Amino acid sequence: MANTINNCLLEEMNAIQVKETITDKTIAILVIGACENHGDHMPFGSDFIFPRKLVENVITDLSKNDNTRSLYNSLILLPAIPYGVSSHHNNFQMTMSVKPSTMVSLIEDILLSLVMNGVRKILVINGHDGNIAPIEIASRKVKNENEDVVIACLESWWVLAGQKDKDLFKVWQGLGHGGEAETSAMLSVRPDLVNTHYAPEQVIPNLPKDDIRIYWKFNELTNTGATGAPKKATVEKGQRIIEILKNSIISFLIDMEKTDWKYGLSLTKT
Ligand SMILES: [Zn+2]
Repeated sequence: MANTINNCLLEEMNAIQVKETITDKTIAILVIGACENHGDHMPFGSDFIFPRKLVENVITDLSKNDNTRSLYNSLILLPAIPYGVSSHHNNFQMTMSVKPSTMVSLIEDILLSLVMNGVRKILVINGHDGNIAPIEIASRKVKNENEDVVIACLESWWVLAGQKDKDLFKVWQGLGHGGEAETSAMLSVRPDLVNTHYAPEQVIPNLPKDDIRIYWKFNELTNTGATGAPKKATVEKGQRIIEILKNSIISFLIDMEKTDWKYGLSLTKT
């Protein structure tokens, strides 16, 4: 089964394999994460380790089904970006943070490299809140200059999981940094990297109830680097998160392939 994933990894391909693989039908998947404190119980790389495993799950599923074999054959997974905009976590030791302008440029340059190589179907899987704005800015810039390119993004899986299954989480819809959802997710893919013994007590930040956003720094909300309810995390919840997200990504890909990634008015043009 290892081969199933490896066939899609750009980092493991040589030039001949790339030549045989990359066409105008290629769908590129880019995982973007961070390297930052996630509380005492979670690894610094959580924001790309989990999304990368999620994508590997998607690829494996697509490879198993005859109906999705051609979709599987058109996937290419780029190396994950292991850094993100984490300035809101930089009071915590060894958090690596990329400036927003650097992050926008980095994402833009990778998207443009894909475009230069004729790839016009791009799916970004994001693992970190600080990257949402840079991803949007970079994607809009590239789209504006290359109208035939489609750039899509799963911006915040940690919100989507709780929205899709309202009964899944016990506290705060699973939200929080290293909280119920994130800790469960990591428990399901890399239990060896989660030390539940050190999981901090629940912290639900005291923030305004209305939908007005404060651009807080994390040390204003928690002393541990974590928020939410990490002690409520379980492997089973993590498996359910993967199932939910996998279904969302797979149905998105199947739907988009049906129209060759056309949408909106371009669907009705003949
Ligand atoms: Zn993060």
